[in-house]
Amino acid sequence: MSTTSQAGNYETEEWFHGMLPREDINKLLVDQGHFLVRMTEPKPNQGMRLVLSVKWNKKPHHFIVNHDTHQLKYYIERYQFDTMADLIQFYITRKVPVTEKSGALLLTPVPRQDWELHHENIELGKMLGEGAFGAVHAGVLTLKDGTSKKVAVKVHKGKAINKELIREICKEARTMRRYKHPNVVAFYGVAIEHEPIMLVMELISGGSLDSYLAKNGNMVSVSERISFSFDAAKGLEYLHDRSCIHRDVAARNCLVNDGRVKLSDFGLSRDVSAQAKAYKLKNLKQKLPIRWLSPETLITASYTFKSDVFSFGILIWEIFVYPKASEPYPGMTAAEVNAQVKAGYRMEAPENMPSAVKTIMVQHCWPQDPDERWSMTNVRKGFEELVACNSSKKSRMQMRSEMA
Ligand code: AMP
Repeated sequence: MSTTSQAGNYETEEWFHGMLPREDINKLLVDQGHFLVRMTEPKPNQGMRLVLSVKWNKKPHHFIVNHDTHQLKYYIERYQFDTMADLIQFYITRKVPVTEKSGALLLTPVPRQDWELHHENIELGKMLGEGAFGAVHAGVLTLKDGTSKKVAVKVHKGKAINKELIREICKEARTMRRYKHPNVVAFYGVAIEHEPIMLVMELISGGSLDSYLAKNGNMVSVSERISFSFDAAKGLEYLHDRSCIHRDVAARNCLVNDGRVKLSDFGLSRDVSAQAKAYKLKNLKQKLPIRWLSPETLITASYTFKSDVFSFGILIWEIFVYPKASEPYPGMTAAEVNAQVKAGYRMEAPENMPSAVKTIMVQHCWPQDPDERWSMTNVRKGFEELVACNSSKKSRMQMRSEMA
């Protein structure tokens, strides 16, 4: 069902929240009489329906809005209306319960949040790349105050939209919008009022770190590589401090801008604050990035902060090896990697990797026993010292050449 084809285009109403899933709705309905309207699929594969959600007597109530396509009427029980806006207006002004049984009254509309964006405020420009979610475009986002900013937009394509997919997408959105850090890609919002769903985030003009290194690898100095690793370590430490396991730390999921690296792609990340400090995969058959996984993840399909640390070690390897090899464990098949890593095999350090970085990677990120691996705070501190050491060396050399 397309919202735009219906009478009284309600997409622009402040109380309409598009396809926002129930998890988010329940957080928005705080006080008695708070209400909003959304789209959902009440039964799998039976299409989208409009739902009026109301907080009443401490719990959320969800009413399906019937839409008679012959007479073009909207109704919940007895009263019928030409538009959705008329229906809402009636229940607000007449103070009539939405259904007799619930007794729920519409008192206060819950307006859209800043991160619930309108499609019409997003202008798509050139395509920047493609990922599992869909195409990524440069674009312009017009804000409520009329100003605009350059953004990156992930445009969903492929599978038809259903409840499960919306839930997945909003999970990524919910995770990302909480994070604000110079080494984590900023998330601005999501447009879910109709298809295609769009995720809007900070535009990082240099593109992904793997392609940046593949293109410019010969020109990237060792100290820049240390600084890239330091940036990624700061970003990951920040996520871990907020109880978020990234689960897909890899050069392809880092973006580069003006020599600064930022972590991106939270499609796989999981917030574990409410659970134990681990996350176990439910679907063991899904496609996994074997070459970045820790031995215990390969064995048990579970992720922890320490399995992120192991993957971070692979990321450091990628940062120093480019542009020589395209993938970790060159010359080995994924099945060989799987078997060998479990048995304790680790890659050689790249030639140009300073021994202090090698120590962090091999001794502090890659031990077989996760408890022997450093926390990301210690990894970050390790790189901080190297960066400080590098810059004092540089300034000593500068002083010498100035005095000469
Ligand atoms: P993803 O779907 O996150 O795997 O992204 C696919 C590709 O789109 C990446 O490899 C980048 O080249 C590009 N891309 C993703 N996010 C951004 C962004 N925020 N800014 C610029 N380019 C991006």
